[in-house]
Amino acid sequence: MTNPGPAPNQRKTSAARKTAAKATPRSIEIRNPATGEPVGTVADESADAVAAKVRELRLYQTEWEAIGPEGRKRWLLKLQDWLIDNTDRLADVVQSESGKPRVDSLIDPTFAIDLIGYYARRAAKFLADEHPSPHSPLARVKRLTTVYRPYPVVGVITPWNFPLAMPALDVIPALAAGAAVLLKPSEVTPLSALELARGWAEIGAPPVLAVMTGGGETGAAVVENVDYVQFTGSTRTGRAIATACARRLIPYSLELGGKDPAIVLADADIDRAAYGIAFGGLFNAGQVCISVERVYVEAPVYDEFVAKLTEHVRTLRQGFDGRESRYDIGALANDAQKDIVASHIEDALAKGARTLTGGRPTGTGTFFEPTVLVDVDHRMTCMTEETFGPTLPVMRVADETEAVALANDSIYGLSASIWTGDRARGDRLARQLNTGAVNINDVFANMFNFALPMGGWQQSGIGARWGGAEGLRKYCRKQALTAPMLPTQQKELFWFPYSTTKLGLALSAMRAAGARGMRRVGVLDVINTVGGKGK
Ligand code: NAD
Repeated sequence: MTNPGPAPNQRKTSAARKTAAKATPRSIEIRNPATGEPVGTVADESADAVAAKVRELRLYQTEWEAIGPEGRKRWLLKLQDWLIDNTDRLADVVQSESGKPRVDSLIDPTFAIDLIGYYARRAAKFLADEHPSPHSPLARVKRLTTVYRPYPVVGVITPWNFPLAMPALDVIPALAAGAAVLLKPSEVTPLSALELARGWAEIGAPPVLAVMTGGGETGAAVVENVDYVQFTGSTRTGRAIATACARRLIPYSLELGGKDPAIVLADADIDRAAYGIAFGGLFNAGQVCISVERVYVEAPVYDEFVAKLTEHVRTLRQGFDGRESRYDIGALANDAQKDIVASHIEDALAKGARTLTGGRPTGTGTFFEPTVLVDVDHRMTCMTEETFGPTLPVMRVADETEAVALANDSIYGLSASIWTGDRARGDRLARQLNTGAVNINDVFANMFNFALPMGGWQQSGIGARWGGAEGLRKYCRKQALTAPMLPTQQKELFWFPYSTTKLGLALSAMRAAGARGMRRVGVLDVINTVGGKGK
């Protein structure tokens, strides 16, 4: 394992310099966790400032909605061009505030570029009016239309693990849907989100995207002022946001924490499982909501899998690189994260677990060695609580039944992976797991497929992002329109004054349309009931 060195070529980004220059009395200093170097300062925005910004966004949103999906597509594709033209600089900013290796930092802008292509081009289709078939022949006198009208202002609150991608993943669909967006990025990594807003301004787009930096209080103010909340972060904060939204009676969608299991079956390709699970658990130093956080291996292949996983993890290079990619695993976001990882390992060791590689902070910045743990069980926090770090605890199981039972023994339900040579078996077991996604013989694959919903079950969330048309429609209020198909009379059958004959005919026709068999008929019964002469 390579020792993490100091920050080569790491300079203050232009965004960092700008934000530092206009630091307010209430401000937050941003540091590179790999080196400890300060990289910028941002405002800690007040609740009043948030409320004023939401009022401003409301003014511009009407026009943004009015230009329709095709008009919005032009701006979103310009933003896509801007992201492509500025990818290297954006990766610099992501790296500067997160301590990620170069390759991980490049994923952020590229993810956003891919997502814009998907939603900008399909928004017109996904948001088109729908004309559902009437449920009954009687209703055929009306033309029915479902209209998708955006919530005026969507608040997007994001965590620190993908400083540019996390904001973009929800901001882009909300903008494509026609909403104005107020983004509140994590106070740990706000500089990349400010870059996104800078890009939006630089292309000359309508001012319907704003960023408000700050901590939890700023986030709470966003919740108090917007019309819809899209939150990504911890389960604890998600619960507080759900409570605040319930008080205001506004809708929300929550993407929360996870404890994703991987199940390795005896018929799996063990080399692929070892490489895939190492990547799934250690990518971004394990700070991914859908990281592999625990592994269950069928007994016949346990020793082989553990040996291959450990051998592979030992070869990984850890450190902080610049534009030249040299490392596989970077730093943790901050000291608090490092402490959580250390405490989970300590707890496991105290209860009888062993580390086969790693197990300690490296001593530089917030780096923590990639760690393989064995002899673990569900008494240990490393198997039950979200670690969000570079740990891979591996547990031997007797068979698939035990593996599924242990995988489901969790308060979380974000995603899972199953490693097997038998696709039918993988499919059958996937349907027994209580998780929002299951990847067979892979990790993260669902995350890169915007046609699928990405959402957690149980305490991993409520609602989902993406999922084709649903990814835009979630930001819309559905409006039902009816209009007559035929020339109208002066009065409808049901209107005043009531007449038992007229009403009886109408009600019996409704009953005939909805009921089955002999119960469809019985005009007189209905007339008698309406006329107060019921049996
Ligand atoms: P966090 O919950 O501490 O903070 C997330 C955001 O919420 C930050 O911007 C923070 O300022 C804000 N916030 C804090 N208190 C608030 C309040 N009362 N009202 C409104 N906003 C408030 O989470 P974190 O530590 O930044 O991120 C790590 C967590 O995010 C992990 O649990 C991880 O699993 C989760 N996560 C989930 C997904 C997913 O898609 N399911 C993706 C990435 C990260």
